[in-house]
Amino acid sequence: MLDTRMMPFSLSVTHLLERGRAIHPGSEVVSRLPDKSLHRQTYRDTYERSERLAKALTRLGIGRGDRVATLSWNHRQHLEAYLGVPAMGAVVHTLNLRLFPAEIGYIANHADDKAVIVDRTLFPLFEKFRHEVKSLRHVLCVRDDGGPLPDGALDYEVLLAEEAPTARPDGFGPPAGSPFFHPDEQAAAMVCYTSGTTGNPKGVAYTHRSTVLHALVASMRDNLGVGADDVVMPVVPMFHAAAWGLPYVAWVNGAKVVFPGPHLDPESLLDLMQAERVTFAAGVPTIWNGILAKLDAEPKRWDLSAMRTMVIGGSAAPPAMIRGFAERHGLLVTHAWGMTETNPLGTVASVKANVAERGADAVLHARSSQGLPVAFVETRHVDERGAIMPWDGKTMGELEVRGPWVARSYMGDEGPDRFTADGWFKTGDVVTIDGDGYVRITDRSKDVIKSGGEWISSVALENALMSHPSVLEAAVFAREDSKWGERPVAAIVLRPDQEVTEKELEGHLAPHFVKYWLPDSYVFVPEIPRTSTGKFLKSKLREEYGKS
Ligand code: AMP
Repeated sequence: MLDTRMMPFSLSVTHLLERGRAIHPGSEVVSRLPDKSLHRQTYRDTYERSERLAKALTRLGIGRGDRVATLSWNHRQHLEAYLGVPAMGAVVHTLNLRLFPAEIGYIANHADDKAVIVDRTLFPLFEKFRHEVKSLRHVLCVRDDGGPLPDGALDYEVLLAEEAPTARPDGFGPPAGSPFFHPDEQAAAMVCYTSGTTGNPKGVAYTHRSTVLHALVASMRDNLGVGADDVVMPVVPMFHAAAWGLPYVAWVNGAKVVFPGPHLDPESLLDLMQAERVTFAAGVPTIWNGILAKLDAEPKRWDLSAMRTMVIGGSAAPPAMIRGFAERHGLLVTHAWGMTETNPLGTVASVKANVAERGADAVLHARSSQGLPVAFVETRHVDERGAIMPWDGKTMGELEVRGPWVARSYMGDEGPDRFTADGWFKTGDVVTIDGDGYVRITDRSKDVIKSGGEWISSVALENALMSHPSVLEAAVFAREDSKWGERPVAAIVLRPDQEVTEKELEGHLAPHFVKYWLPDSYVFVPEIPRTSTGKFLKSKLREEYGKS
């Protein structure tokens, strides 16, 4: 083979960190504190604080490969851990604060966490599982609420203040004496756990390489398209799927970052978006549903003229929501799909030129699909025997993906059945793929409804139900049926002060679906049960309303 003599330069988080300091030192990181005041620091400050954190952790005995956990909302200290921990060769492990304490304890134990950074406001939760984590040696407490330091914890700010920044020349580092270095690109940078609605949560270890490549491809214009003039607000929690990689995406581009902290209600988010002139925000549909309702109720209250796009993912964004934002408020939604196992971005619903030419309906259809695979992610869908299905937009099959930021196994080789012998990851999502390459989720494989041997797409029915003006949310699930095997039932959450009959809903669906797809019945519920990461928990609905 020709010896190319190209540099073997590792794709590491360390480079991202160095680049931010060298090229974008003045870019801002804004964090909303528990008392709602705003804290501001620059990229230069963030670099220095990340370095002090790395020095403090080193002094505490944290070394290469050791796991440093976080139990935190989205804020600057969380970003410092995202950057500083991997750049010192250790591994940042984000704990999901919405899980049950016993589950968090299981996960922290499983990951062998040596240290944890905990928000003081989350200490009551931490106390419920800390003693189960046998490997835990150090607890660093972020006291942004100004409260006293809990027993047995080290003060994050005091630890940082005890360290000094390393003297350095201008430009790229890391300089001699810094705890930072360029790790092997295949070394672990971050560990995230799946939300584990079936079986125990499983660990996915992202590499430096996967994290960096993911940030670069996510930055492409047809994907998330972030630049130095953007103001990025990750509403998606940093404890779930690396906040879709946004902290790294923002950082590699030098964009201003705005962290909402613990204030995730629609009004607080809208105030922050207006005040900081946010151009790019990302979160799950529940968040955006709340924001849309608030904007509809008070259309003139907020000036969101800076907003370029809002990324919605984690669950399906209903077309009615995408249309509502566009038509009533002039706001563009970018729909994206991903998983913890895919670092997490897999597909983005961008609009190809040939689709745009087909007019507004085709554009909305494309935008409300899960989208096109991003560069370097490959997609296929297969039937129960593994045969590859046609890209005809009709035939359903389980989505499989492969690519440089897709897991090749779980930590400890758990769940081997999710990985095929020929190197693909089985997503568990049932999809169609059309001739343009657009992926459209019709169900989770464990939630599919099979009636008389035919699959019925609960997502298609939900989207149609959610386009009814009285319906806030709809989840369609299977009920056992002696004749057909299963039949669809719809759980409906009404908008405040609205009423609707089953007949009306049936009339609303009937023109769009073949008869056997129509739900047999409707249950009106105050809310849809959800998983810790905001997805519909249909197993709960099946338990409650799905027995024949
Ligand atoms: P998690 O690993 O917790 O992020 O969950 C990943 C799962 O969330 C996927 O397998 C999908 O079932 C679901 N999901 C993520 N994004 C979307 C989306 N845009 N539309 C529908 N489902 C989604």
